[in-house]
Amino acid sequence: MPKSALAFDLLAADGHARAGLIHTPHGQIPTPVFMPVGTQATVKAMSPRDLRDVGATIILGNTYHLYLRPGDERIARLGGLHAFMGWDGPILTDSGGYQVFSLAQRRKIDADGVTFRSHIDGSEHRFTPEKVVAIQENLGADLIVCLDECAPANDYDYNVQALARTHAWAQRCKAAKTRTDQALFGVVQGGVFPDLREQSARFLTDMGFDGYAIGGLSVGETKEQMHASLEVVTPILPADQPRYLMGVGTPGDLIECVARGVDMFDCVLPTRTARNGSALTRTGRINLRNARFADDADPIEPGCTCYACTHFSRAYVRHLTKANEILGHHLLTVHNLHLLLTIAREMREAVLEGHFQAYREAFWQTCGQPAVNLA
Ligand SMILES: [Zn+2]
Repeated sequence: MPKSALAFDLLAADGHARAGLIHTPHGQIPTPVFMPVGTQATVKAMSPRDLRDVGATIILGNTYHLYLRPGDERIARLGGLHAFMGWDGPILTDSGGYQVFSLAQRRKIDADGVTFRSHIDGSEHRFTPEKVVAIQENLGADLIVCLDECAPANDYDYNVQALARTHAWAQRCKAAKTRTDQALFGVVQGGVFPDLREQSARFLTDMGFDGYAIGGLSVGETKEQMHASLEVVTPILPADQPRYLMGVGTPGDLIECVARGVDMFDCVLPTRTARNGSALTRTGRINLRNARFADDADPIEPGCTCYACTHFSRAYVRHLTKANEILGHHLLTVHNLHLLLTIAREMREAVLEGHFQAYREAFWQTCGQPAVNLA
């Protein structure tokens, strides 16, 4: 085990795409990696055993949700998040900032932090950088994240102010951290504005973190804007540390963002679409509620090796979904997570073998969608 809480071996690069290995106190994470989201200390409809079966190596927990319910101090008393939820692999907790800015009611931001009301019962709470680090130290994840402010991506003046707060809060989070077995990620913000993104990447890199998250993307901006932001940010970030793009999770987005130097992803898309009766596939999204699947004996995605696709037909999964049976949610979640985890693994192999560009071109040919910015 390395001395620091996190070590990252950059094993190979192919263009800007990278293959690496993150070492944490709870095991290794091969990158590129997709992290299933376990909002409430559970990846919805999946046991930890199921997560291992689909190939998950790290999962994400949400600080905002776990702080409100069941409470970070209770989780600490029960042995920390790993023990509490029965997952002994690596965990990342986010800062809660995104949820406070998108979910909480009547939030009020000031230079020192943010006061908000719980979306559950309306009770008043306050997050400061120090408080958010303390909560994440109670939860005990391997990778923790600085409190940041996620501003509307297209509002320049707002982003200037939010960036100043995000940077000041990053310094306070770093100073507040006491545990040596947790790695701290700074969060690059700056909306769709290249000058602000560059400023943020340089500021946080100069401060020095264990890894770098890129926030405030995939929030309604165009793909071109998202790609342009990454093209500004990733060349500035240290090559020997991991980069985590928050909230991105379609197969095509994973490939295009790895092509621009990203190593880690999380997104609720695979679990949320499953609960809506939809499957992600390499050729796009399909809704199993659609009548055309009622007599379809094919698997969800022909050729897929997941448990759902090797055992059940579209007709059966459609029936479960229409009848609102729990197994339908489970099988679609198994398939959706398996797909993203498989694509991440395939990209890693392609980088290690030096044919990432061919892999990327083959993906866009297969999916039948126009390739995005293949330059
Ligand atoms: Zn499948």
